[in-house]
Amino acid sequence: MSVENLSVASSTAARKGVVIIGAGLAGWHVIDAIRAKDTEIPITLITADSGDRYHKPMLTMAISQNKRASDLVRASGSGAANTAEVTLLANTQVTDIDPVSQTVQVRSTAQSDDALTTIGYEKMVLAMGAHPIFPKSLPQDLVWHVNHIERFSQLQEKLAAGSQHVAIVGAGMVGTEIAEDLLKAGHKVTLIDLNDAPLSQMLPAKATARIAKAIESQGIQFLGGYQVSAVARINCNSNDSEDGEKLQVDYAPLSTDADNTDIQPLEPLIVDHVIASTGLTVDEQLPAAAGVEFDRRTGIVVDAATLRTNAANIYAIGDCMSINGVACRYVAPLRAQAATIADDILGHEHSGYDHKPPMIRLKNKAISVMVTGVPQAAGNWQVKTESDDELIMDLIDDNEAVSATVTIKAPAVPKA
Ligand SMILES: Cc1cc2nc3c(=O)[nH]c(=O)nc-3n(C[C@H](O)[C@H](O)[C@H](O)COP(=O)(O)OP(=O)(O)OC[C@H]3O[C@@H](n4cnc5c(N)ncnc54)[C@H](O)[C@@H]3O)c2cc1C
Repeated sequence: MSVENLSVASSTAARKGVVIIGAGLAGWHVIDAIRAKDTEIPITLITADSGDRYHKPMLTMAISQNKRASDLVRASGSGAANTAEVTLLANTQVTDIDPVSQTVQVRSTAQSDDALTTIGYEKMVLAMGAHPIFPKSLPQDLVWHVNHIERFSQLQEKLAAGSQHVAIVGAGMVGTEIAEDLLKAGHKVTLIDLNDAPLSQMLPAKATARIAKAIESQGIQFLGGYQVSAVARINCNSNDSEDGEKLQVDYAPLSTDADNTDIQPLEPLIVDHVIASTGLTVDEQLPAAAGVEFDRRTGIVVDAATLRTNAANIYAIGDCMSINGVACRYVAPLRAQAATIADDILGHEHSGYDHKPPMIRLKNKAISVMVTGVPQAAGNWQVKTESDDELIMDLIDDNEAVSATVTIKAPAVPKA
């Protein structure tokens, strides 16, 4: 944090105002929404990263399009902060929240000392996102994730060296999308999941089997029903990898029949990179400090109509929060959520946020997958339409109402 920024921060604190923690899509949407209605209220944006504005969904499309991280940045953090007239404390970690004195403690990650600065708030918005889960078998110093542009940028640089073998662990939406992106960029891709098919936590087996078939026919090696037990660095002394280093990925069938002596030990995979795409979790530390109600599985609990937390003057938005016990980690609802928070903070009358689950679209080109409602694999899924080219299934709830629909279509064959 620069001295200049510090002095601006303390004067903002003296005037009080809005403090936003996190400069992802959620944090910036709140700034846009407030500034659309009030150009005067002081806003301080505190973020552990640079604060650069970028569209995170692009991270699973960028490598095959030969786009670097800098191509994805729509505005630098400092430039966007100047335009919106907000005080940006970039590369600054919020370490504590005191809801009684209405202050936060921050530490600059760009400086070597551990000096803490205290900043006051009148209203605060938690927009701190969720971070990747790394199971013990996937050591963080050996595996990549694509949940942030900085880490993505480092991975992209490594992959630019030429065709490589990448193992992706976790075939949810992000894992399945990045698998196709890397394949299209010319890399060999192995996608590994505990389940027999991609998206198996969200959709029924009849639907996911089509997705598995489509990505395999593209050339992605899909290992369904396997668990990665270890990733370790090995030295191959070959010239086709930096310093001759590769990664050994040990994996095994998820459940083996102990009496079956025919099961052969599996040859480990030898790859250049491993990407973990094994889910997200919200850090409990700041919500706990602020006395904010928190669910370990779904994140910060908010009131559905106002997006207020149970702590006075504290709101939450984006990946870090959940509504009615459901986390909704998608971009589409952010604009309406931010508008509600802006109105509530500014004391404007508003009709309340009305949460509508967004339409979910897999970005893969091998197959078209579109989901509406709140899907979950388990439940009473019924086939509406079934042909070679199309599958439509509804999830029927206990009241016989449709709570989700999945539509899967074969991609259109390009005209010769
Ligand atoms: C690869 C990928 C592809 C995706 N594709 C799609 C898609 O196609 N469609 C879709 O709708 N959604 C998609 N999503 C989800 C969507 O991108 C997210 O829901 C959204 O970007 C979340 O924004 P956020 O601001 O809540 O969180 P984040 O972007 O994670 O931002 C959190 C911010 O908080 C800061 N922060 C965290 N802790 C602290 C702290 N203690 N102190 C200071 N700052 C802190 C971080 O530095 C960061 O700036 C995708 C996600 C990924 C990862």
